[in-house]
Amino acid sequence: MKCFRLAKVKAKGKKPVNQTPAIEPISETGQTVRVALGRGHTQKKQGADNYKGESEWEYYGRIIPKVKRQIHTLAPGKFVTLQIDRAATVGYSTQCRDSARKAELWNADIVVLCHFNSAGRNARGVENLIIDTSDHLDNKLAKIFSDFLNEELGIKERGKDGVKVIKSRHNGYGMLNAMRKKSIPSVLIEPCFAKYENEESRAIFEDDERFADILARAIIKSVTI
Ligand SMILES: [Zn+2]
Repeated sequence: MKCFRLAKVKAKGKKPVNQTPAIEPISETGQTVRVALGRGHTQKKQGADNYKGESEWEYYGRIIPKVKRQIHTLAPGKFVTLQIDRAATVGYSTQCRDSARKAELWNADIVVLCHFNSAGRNARGVENLIIDTSDHLDNKLAKIFSDFLNEELGIKERGKDGVKVIKSRHNGYGMLNAMRKKSIPSVLIEPCFAKYENEESRAIFEDDERFADILARAIIKSVTI
């Protein structure tokens, strides 16, 4: 396996000509990839519920440790992983700032913000959110994860390849913006619409191990050639 590490190149005022930042092979540097998994929402405001009545916060409290375990099982010694929990005791913007600071101090190469979607009975599909398209790694992970869900679980890809590119400084995406300010590539995952039981939501929520394995493999593949 050949892993690549993103060079932390901060754009100073002008846009980079090539949107793909420089990367160097981890196999040559001996460096590991540092993946932080952000648990969506807080104990106080737990986000949407799935059809089983389980909140985003509850669900990912159980899933993230499985994803971490699976990454280390499939690619031993290649990754370091961290779960980032948001503090319920402070306001949303402070939560975002604190999480981004934590990811920065920890030297995260990528942050995966873990959520699921909620809407009307007929809504279907995966949609992974990234800011702009300037970070090679976040775009790549968003696409790979969406493809895996489509190919392996039959989940429809919304929009273009199941990836939604949002404009930076959009108010609704504080965590993505906070990571962007620190130049940390980040993806906010929305693997399915969870409120109603259907073929897609069942594929996710009836098999924790399978979902954790798919996310782990997407993360590994996104930094592997
Ligand atoms: Zn959410």
